[in-house]
Amino acid sequence: MKRELTKILNLPEVIVKAKKEIEESLVLEVESQSKTAFCPRCQKVSHRLHQNHWHLIKDLPWGEKEVFLRINRRQFKCDYCSKPFSEELNFVEKKQKYTKRYARFVTQEVVNSDLLSVAKRHNLTEDQVVSMIN
Ligand SMILES: [Zn+2]
Repeated sequence: MKRELTKILNLPEVIVKAKKEIEESLVLEVESQSKTAFCPRCQKVSHRLHQNHWHLIKDLPWGEKEVFLRINRRQFKCDYCSKPFSEELNFVEKKQKYTKRYARFVTQEVVNSDLLSVAKRHNLTEDQVVSMIN
């Protein structure tokens, strides 16, 4: 089941650990496959987990259901410079609340439709939709 969901999700960096359905939404708890991260300052690999930071990231809908990924963007501590840093996740920009592929999907819909109807269909504000287009 979890393996199936991981396959369907198709984000190679993560595996699905749990699934929760909340009304019309699906929340998938995902975990990074990697046990390590690279310090952006020294480019050295770190194994030292510093803190956990959970985020809810919106992803492509599955049929009628909105999908949210609950992910831990872990903070590591570098052994060389001793500074903490957050791991990179390739499928989501830093500080964003949605995946890159979802932003592309929404952008494509705006091209073929208009801002307001796309916002409504996706349960987003027009400002959120604008922030996804770049
Ligand atoms: Zn470092």
